[in-house]
Amino acid sequence: MINIQQQYHHQQQQDRPLVLIAGGGPAGLLQAILLDKIGVDSIVVERTKEPDEWNSKSYTLVLGDKGKDALQRAGCLDAALEVGTQRRFIYLYDGRSGDLKPILKQSYGLGLTRHRLVEFLENVVMHCPRVTLKKGSGVSSVAKEENSFLAVTLEDGSVLTASHVIGADGKWSRIRESFPELRSQWLHALRLAYT
Ligand SMILES: Cc1cc2nc3c(=O)[nH]c(=O)nc-3n(C[C@H](O)[C@H](O)[C@H](O)COP(=O)(O)OP(=O)(O)OC[C@H]3O[C@@H](n4cnc5c(N)ncnc54)[C@H](O)[C@@H]3O)c2cc1C
Repeated sequence: MINIQQQYHHQQQQDRPLVLIAGGGPAGLLQAILLDKIGVDSIVVERTKEPDEWNSKSYTLVLGDKGKDALQRAGCLDAALEVGTQRRFIYLYDGRSGDLKPILKQSYGLGLTRHRLVEFLENVVMHCPRVTLKKGSGVSSVAKEENSFLAVTLEDGSVLTASHVIGADGKWSRIRESFPELRSQWLHALRLAYT
Protein backbone atom coordinates (compact mmCIF):
# COMPACT_ATOMS: atom_id res chain seq x y z
CA MET A 1 0.00 0.00 0.00
CA ILE A 2 1.45 3.35 -1.04
CA ASN A 3 1.71 6.04 1.59
CA ILE A 4 1.01 9.08 -0.53
CA GLN A 5 2.38 11.61 1.94
CA GLN A 6 5.67 9.72 2.18
CA GLN A 7 5.86 9.47 -1.59
CA TYR A 8 5.35 13.23 -1.95
CA HIS A 9 7.90 14.06 0.71
CA HIS A 10 10.44 11.78 -0.94
CA GLN A 11 9.93 13.33 -4.36
CA GLN A 12 10.01 16.87 -3.04
CA GLN A 13 13.43 16.13 -1.60
CA GLN A 14 14.59 14.72 -4.91
CA ASP A 15 13.33 17.82 -6.73
CA ARG A 16 11.33 15.77 -9.25
CA PRO A 17 8.04 16.98 -10.68
CA LEU A 18 5.02 15.53 -9.02
CA VAL A 19 1.73 16.27 -10.72
CA LEU A 20 -1.59 16.15 -8.93
CA ILE A 21 -4.51 15.64 -11.29
CA ALA A 22 -7.84 16.71 -9.84
CA GLY A 23 -10.50 14.53 -11.48
CA GLY A 24 -10.32 10.93 -12.66
CA GLY A 25 -12.64 11.21 -15.66
CA PRO A 26 -11.46 10.47 -19.21
CA ALA A 27 -9.24 13.58 -19.38
CA GLY A 28 -7.55 13.11 -15.99
CA LEU A 29 -6.83 9.41 -16.46
CA LEU A 30 -5.51 9.87 -19.98
CA GLN A 31 -3.30 12.73 -18.82
CA ALA A 32 -1.82 10.50 -16.10
CA ILE A 33 -1.08 7.74 -18.64
CA LEU A 34 0.64 10.22 -20.98
CA LEU A 35 2.73 11.61 -18.10
CA ASP A 36 3.69 8.07 -17.09
CA LYS A 37 4.94 7.48 -20.61
CA ILE A 38 7.39 10.39 -20.35
CA GLY A 39 8.54 9.39 -16.86
CA VAL A 40 6.58 11.89 -14.77
CA ASP A 41 4.90 10.79 -11.53
CA SER A 42 1.32 11.76 -10.89
CA ILE A 43 -1.52 11.16 -8.52
CA VAL A 44 -5.09 11.25 -9.78
CA VAL A 45 -7.59 12.36 -7.15
CA GLU A 46 -11.15 11.38 -8.07
CA ARG A 47 -14.09 12.44 -5.94
CA THR A 48 -16.33 9.46 -6.61
CA LYS A 49 -15.68 5.85 -5.69
CA GLU A 50 -17.16 4.27 -8.82
CA PRO A 51 -16.86 5.44 -12.45
CA ASP A 52 -20.54 6.30 -12.94
CA GLU A 53 -21.36 7.45 -9.43
CA TRP A 54 -21.18 11.11 -10.51
CA ASN A 55 -24.14 10.63 -12.84
CA SER A 56 -26.68 7.82 -12.73
CA LYS A 57 -27.36 8.24 -16.46
CA SER A 58 -24.67 6.62 -18.52
CA TYR A 59 -24.38 8.18 -21.94
CA THR A 60 -22.39 7.18 -24.98
CA LEU A 61 -19.35 9.17 -26.07
CA VAL A 62 -18.24 9.03 -29.66
CA LEU A 63 -14.54 9.80 -29.90
CA GLY A 64 -13.50 11.55 -33.08
CA ASP A 65 -10.01 11.91 -34.55
CA LYS A 66 -8.65 13.98 -31.64
CA GLY A 67 -9.84 11.49 -29.04
CA LYS A 68 -8.57 8.51 -31.01
CA ASP A 69 -5.22 10.24 -31.55
CA ALA A 70 -4.90 10.80 -27.79
CA LEU A 71 -5.57 7.10 -27.13
CA GLN A 72 -3.03 6.22 -29.81
CA ARG A 73 -0.38 8.36 -28.14
CA ALA A 74 -1.22 6.68 -24.84
CA GLY A 75 -0.61 3.33 -26.55
CA CYS A 76 -4.09 1.99 -25.92
CA LEU A 77 -6.17 2.69 -29.05
CA ASP A 78 -6.15 -0.95 -30.19
CA ALA A 79 -7.30 -2.15 -26.78
CA ALA A 80 -10.01 0.56 -26.71
CA LEU A 81 -11.31 -0.64 -30.08
CA GLU A 82 -11.94 -4.03 -28.46
CA VAL A 83 -14.20 -2.55 -25.77
CA GLY A 84 -15.89 0.09 -27.91
CA THR A 85 -17.75 0.03 -31.20
CA GLN A 86 -16.77 1.65 -34.46
CA ARG A 87 -19.28 4.19 -35.77
CA ARG A 88 -18.77 4.32 -39.52
CA PHE A 89 -22.10 5.76 -40.65
CA ILE A 90 -24.36 8.70 -39.93
CA TYR A 91 -28.01 7.79 -40.48
CA LEU A 92 -30.36 10.38 -41.97
CA TYR A 93 -34.02 9.73 -41.27
CA ASP A 94 -36.54 11.20 -43.71
CA GLY A 95 -39.68 11.90 -41.68
CA ARG A 96 -41.96 12.05 -44.74
CA SER A 97 -40.92 8.89 -46.53
CA GLY A 98 -39.67 7.02 -43.49
CA ASP A 99 -36.45 6.22 -45.35
CA LEU A 100 -33.26 5.73 -43.41
CA LYS A 101 -30.22 6.78 -45.42
CA PRO A 102 -26.73 5.70 -44.24
CA ILE A 103 -23.90 8.15 -45.00
CA LEU A 104 -20.34 6.85 -44.73
CA LYS A 105 -18.21 9.04 -42.43
CA GLN A 106 -14.75 10.15 -43.58
CA SER A 107 -13.22 8.53 -40.54
CA TYR A 108 -14.90 6.28 -38.01
CA GLY A 109 -15.87 7.36 -34.50
CA LEU A 110 -15.17 5.19 -31.46
CA GLY A 111 -18.33 4.79 -29.40
CA LEU A 112 -18.41 3.70 -25.77
CA THR A 113 -20.22 4.77 -22.64
CA ARG A 114 -18.43 7.18 -20.32
CA HIS A 115 -18.58 4.51 -17.64
CA ARG A 116 -16.88 1.99 -19.95
CA LEU A 117 -14.23 4.49 -21.06
CA VAL A 118 -13.37 5.41 -17.47
CA GLU A 119 -13.27 1.75 -16.42
CA PHE A 120 -11.01 1.00 -19.41
CA LEU A 121 -8.61 3.86 -18.65
CA GLU A 122 -8.52 2.89 -14.96
CA ASN A 123 -7.36 -0.58 -16.05
CA VAL A 124 -4.60 0.98 -18.15
CA VAL A 125 -3.61 3.17 -15.19
CA MET A 126 -3.26 0.06 -13.01
CA HIS A 127 -0.28 -0.90 -15.19
CA CYS A 128 1.37 2.53 -15.05
CA PRO A 129 4.06 2.44 -12.35
CA ARG A 130 4.20 6.22 -11.98
CA VAL A 131 0.48 6.79 -11.42
CA THR A 132 -1.36 6.61 -8.10
CA LEU A 133 -5.15 6.68 -8.26
CA LYS A 134 -6.92 7.91 -5.15
CA LYS A 135 -10.69 7.66 -5.22
CA GLY A 136 -13.46 8.66 -2.87
CA SER A 137 -12.40 12.17 -1.86
CA GLY A 138 -12.26 15.23 -4.08
CA VAL A 139 -9.96 18.23 -4.09
CA SER A 140 -11.48 21.09 -2.15
CA SER A 141 -8.80 23.76 -2.56
CA VAL A 142 -5.33 24.50 -3.89
CA ALA A 143 -2.99 27.05 -2.36
CA LYS A 144 0.50 28.22 -3.25
CA GLU A 145 3.20 27.56 -0.68
CA GLU A 146 6.24 29.71 -0.09
CA ASN A 147 8.60 27.04 -1.42
CA SER A 148 6.79 27.23 -4.80
CA PHE A 149 4.97 23.96 -4.18
CA LEU A 150 1.20 23.72 -4.17
CA ALA A 151 -0.75 22.59 -1.12
CA VAL A 152 -3.80 20.59 -2.15
CA THR A 153 -6.51 20.08 0.45
CA LEU A 154 -8.85 17.15 -0.07
CA GLU A 155 -12.45 16.90 1.08
CA ASP A 156 -11.45 14.34 3.73
CA GLY A 157 -9.19 16.98 5.32
CA SER A 158 -5.87 15.53 4.19
CA VAL A 159 -3.33 17.81 2.51
CA LEU A 160 -1.00 16.81 -0.33
CA THR A 161 1.78 18.82 -1.91
CA ALA A 162 2.58 18.83 -5.59
CA SER A 163 4.81 20.67 -8.03
CA HIS A 164 1.96 20.98 -10.56
CA VAL A 165 -1.82 20.68 -10.40
CA ILE A 166 -4.02 19.85 -13.37
CA GLY A 167 -7.71 20.71 -13.13
CA ALA A 168 -9.35 17.77 -14.91
CA ASP A 169 -12.54 18.14 -12.93
CA GLY A 170 -14.83 18.63 -15.90
CA LYS A 171 -15.96 21.40 -18.17
CA TRP A 172 -17.00 23.70 -15.30
CA SER A 173 -13.81 23.07 -13.34
CA ARG A 174 -13.58 24.70 -9.94
CA ILE A 175 -9.90 23.81 -9.70
CA ARG A 176 -8.98 25.75 -12.84
CA GLU A 177 -11.15 28.61 -11.56
CA SER A 178 -9.03 28.73 -8.41
CA PHE A 179 -6.20 30.16 -10.53
CA PRO A 180 -7.85 33.31 -11.93
CA GLU A 181 -4.51 34.57 -13.27
CA LEU A 182 -4.44 31.60 -15.68
CA ARG A 183 -8.03 32.06 -16.82
CA SER A 184 -7.19 33.37 -20.30
CA GLN A 185 -4.96 30.32 -20.93
CA TRP A 186 -7.49 27.66 -20.02
CA LEU A 187 -10.34 29.43 -21.77
CA HIS A 188 -8.18 29.44 -24.90
CA ALA A 189 -7.48 25.69 -24.50
CA LEU A 190 -11.20 25.01 -23.92
CA ARG A 191 -12.09 26.89 -27.10
CA LEU A 192 -9.53 24.90 -29.10
CA ALA A 193 -10.87 21.63 -27.69
CA TYR A 194 -14.43 22.42 -28.67
CA THR A 195 -13.76 23.80 -32.15
C1 LIG B 1 -25.10 13.54 -22.92
C2 LIG B 1 -23.65 13.83 -23.19
C3 LIG B 1 -23.07 13.34 -24.36
C4 LIG B 1 -21.72 13.58 -24.63
N1 LIG B 1 -21.18 13.09 -25.79
C5 LIG B 1 -19.87 13.29 -26.07
C6 LIG B 1 -19.25 12.71 -27.24
O1 LIG B 1 -19.90 12.05 -28.01
N2 LIG B 1 -17.92 12.91 -27.45
C7 LIG B 1 -17.17 13.64 -26.57
O2 LIG B 1 -15.95 13.76 -26.79
N3 LIG B 1 -17.72 14.20 -25.46
C8 LIG B 1 -19.03 14.05 -25.19
N4 LIG B 1 -19.60 14.59 -24.07
C9 LIG B 1 -18.77 15.38 -23.20
C10 LIG B 1 -18.11 14.40 -22.27
O3 LIG B 1 -18.81 14.36 -21.06
C11 LIG B 1 -16.68 14.81 -22.12
O4 LIG B 1 -16.01 14.78 -23.38
C12 LIG B 1 -15.87 13.93 -21.17
O5 LIG B 1 -16.63 13.32 -20.16
C13 LIG B 1 -14.90 14.92 -20.58
O6 LIG B 1 -14.08 14.25 -19.71
P1 LIG B 1 -13.41 15.02 -18.51
O7 LIG B 1 -12.52 14.02 -17.84
O8 LIG B 1 -12.82 16.31 -18.97
O9 LIG B 1 -14.60 15.48 -17.55
P2 LIG B 1 -15.70 14.62 -16.79
O10 LIG B 1 -16.12 13.44 -17.58
O11 LIG B 1 -16.73 15.61 -16.38
O12 LIG B 1 -14.92 14.11 -15.51
C14 LIG B 1 -14.55 14.96 -14.46
C15 LIG B 1 -14.25 14.10 -13.25
O13 LIG B 1 -13.79 14.94 -12.21
C16 LIG B 1 -14.39 14.53 -10.98
N5 LIG B 1 -14.38 15.69 -10.10
C17 LIG B 1 -15.16 16.79 -10.15
N6 LIG B 1 -14.80 17.68 -9.21
C18 LIG B 1 -13.76 17.12 -8.56
C19 LIG B 1 -12.94 17.54 -7.48
N7 LIG B 1 -13.10 18.73 -6.89
N8 LIG B 1 -11.96 16.71 -7.05
C20 LIG B 1 -11.75 15.51 -7.63
N9 LIG B 1 -12.52 15.04 -8.65
C21 LIG B 1 -13.49 15.86 -9.11
C22 LIG B 1 -15.77 14.03 -11.36
O14 LIG B 1 -16.27 13.12 -10.40
C23 LIG B 1 -15.48 13.35 -12.71
O15 LIG B 1 -15.17 12.00 -12.56
C24 LIG B 1 -20.94 14.35 -23.74
C25 LIG B 1 -21.53 14.84 -22.56
C26 LIG B 1 -22.88 14.57 -22.29
C27 LIG B 1 -23.48 15.12 -21.02
